[in-house]
Amino acid sequence: PESKLPSLGTTIFTQMSALAQQHNAINLSQGFPDFDGPRYLQQRLAHHVSQGANQYAPMTGVAALREAIADKTAALYGHYPDANDEITVTAGATEALYAAITALVRPGDEVICFDPSYDSYAPAVTLSGGIMKRLTLQPPAFRVDWPAFRQLLSPRTRLVILNTPHNPSATVWQQSDFDALWQEIADEEIYVLSDEVYEHICFTAEGHHSVLAHPQLRERAIAVSSFGKTYHMTGWKVGYCVAPAPLSAEIRKVHQYLTFAVNTPAQLALADMLRAEPEHYRDLPAFYQARRDSFVQALSGSRFHILPCEGTYFLLADYSAISDLDDVSFCRWLTEEVGVAAIPLSVFCAGAFPHRLIRLCFAKQESTLIAAAERLCQI
Ligand code: PMP
Ligand code: GLN
Repeated sequence: PESKLPSLGTTIFTQMSALAQQHNAINLSQGFPDFDGPRYLQQRLAHHVSQGANQYAPMTGVAALREAIADKTAALYGHYPDANDEITVTAGATEALYAAITALVRPGDEVICFDPSYDSYAPAVTLSGGIMKRLTLQPPAFRVDWPAFRQLLSPRTRLVILNTPHNPSATVWQQSDFDALWQEIADEEIYVLSDEVYEHICFTAEGHHSVLAHPQLRERAIAVSSFGKTYHMTGWKVGYCVAPAPLSAEIRKVHQYLTFAVNTPAQLALADMLRAEPEHYRDLPAFYQARRDSFVQALSGSRFHILPCEGTYFLLADYSAISDLDDVSFCRWLTEEVGVAAIPLSVFCAGAFPHRLIRLCFAKQESTLIAAAERLCQI
């Protein structure tokens, strides 16, 4: 058949994880922990399964989970979303992003995103007949150039997609970024899709700024999060989105025919976890900061130049001092010859990105990070 996505192949995450396995390399490419999530969460899942919570969940999500999300949002961001009308539980953040884009983007609409950008946004926009307008952020700071952003706005702009803490650059948006965004779009009917899956993995003194904490922007915004990141359970694929009722109603129209509902016992277990152990997500920055710092320390004897990491569980390394290869070739070589798999940054960009940067995932046990660093220090 004629492809609706002709230039798209298999995701870089699937490719690199397969290559890592083939060469028995230490896999710091695809972002997932090599350690398990909380015992309590696992026990609650087993409990709910044994209690027969094994049929369809409500389309919008289990009430106890939506209520726990509402309370958490209020405690962290000073905004109390309505659990009935403004919170929708989805099959990972990926489904929330897809449903939001599908609900909002009409043929010919323009969508602004910031490159390097997570790989799931653009295909969803294309399938809806939308047109991507990309602003490339420059290393090492990856800050938004607001005058350049203004140049991208047009009467057809429908949606702006942002991601903070940002995968893959590991930078975070400041309050001033949200204020600048509001200034630019206040007078237009433009919506904001804020991918905040790493909301609890932020290392800055100010902490994570959510779009939900911005009183004006949140009236036009969909905030997306994922329990996969927060509870070290990427395989559970449970996420959610928070949006004003009229926007949530449109997103739910897509969600009800994309998946209808998300698996019931996992939702019940996550609701228990949110209530019983709020310290888990409060302690997460310190947990990951310790891993980040020991990995950076272990790499200090290498020829990589490590960029600052403000959030996420990814670290950027510049290999200019090591090789002239482009980043895709370098990652291939690194996996096959050095035994460490990483992600090249240029794959997150539609335009040229002529930097020698790779992304390393540090959501790994200390022993994994030390073993990887030993190999990386030898080149
Ligand atoms: N957005 C970003 C920025 C991500 O890094 C990821 C996952 N790695 C997702 C969305 C998707 O999250 P989930 O696995 O919950 O679908
Ligand atoms: N989001 C994860 C990453 O950035 C990968 C998710 C996936 O494999 N689709 O590595």
